[in-house]
Amino acid sequence: MKKFIPVIAILFCAAASYAKPTPDAALEMLMKGNARFVSGKSIHPRNTPARRQLSAVKNQGDYAYATILGCSDSRVPVELIFDAGIMDLFVIRVPGNVFQTDEIAGAEYGVGHVHTPVLMVLAHTDCGAVTATVAMTDKHGHAHKLERNIPALLKPIIPAVAGARKNRPDLKGKALIEYASELNVLREIRQLFHNSASIRAAVKAGKVKVTGAIYDIASGKVVLMEQKKIARIFSEVEKDRSRSTKEFAD
Ligand SMILES: [Zn+2]
Repeated sequence: MKKFIPVIAILFCAAASYAKPTPDAALEMLMKGNARFVSGKSIHPRNTPARRQLSAVKNQGDYAYATILGCSDSRVPVELIFDAGIMDLFVIRVPGNVFQTDEIAGAEYGVGHVHTPVLMVLAHTDCGAVTATVAMTDKHGHAHKLERNIPALLKPIIPAVAGARKNRPDLKGKALIEYASELNVLREIRQLFHNSASIRAAVKAGKVKVTGAIYDIASGKVVLMEQKKIARIFSEVEKDRSRSTKEFAD
């Protein structure tokens, strides 16, 4: 009997290293990492040659704890702002953090194959893509000429900007941009739910928590959106998936 003990110990250790956090625990890991970053106390975890070597022989699906759609902006380096390391985050970055086909596919891979218990849409203050969309749709014509392919990138942000103008006609300039960015996070989440049956199934099964957040580039703080707003979007999409996402901007 004695000779089985080391075998059991090895099995136990292996199982322990494969334990993935629950959605709430994974979200807490992100927020605790962000708190360290904000206070200048980052510990840069899982960032060693040993971790790199581990990542070469292990399946990231057994380790990564969040899929994050973020903006390409150089001021929002995702692993740094969450004080995360190698094999921790499955990151999709695109200007304006929009969900078009490729990004939705990325989210499906992150949730379905990398098995991350959290999926976050992360916008940020002073976003150039949102600012450009506000300018592009400004009736008073403050937009400057855009390169050939940029309007297609900004197009998905237009409904959020239109929604922001409609809901809060009093907002101008920076305030309008920040509000449109918030609406854009919610709109992208709605877009994701509308277009991905596998994500909806994972949400229903409790395998993933979908959340939205805004990163403040000055303070470094990530502020989570109210989870009830995301729950409401999910139930609306579940009730009627035939409605166009264009109808929703809040
Ligand atoms: Zn941006």
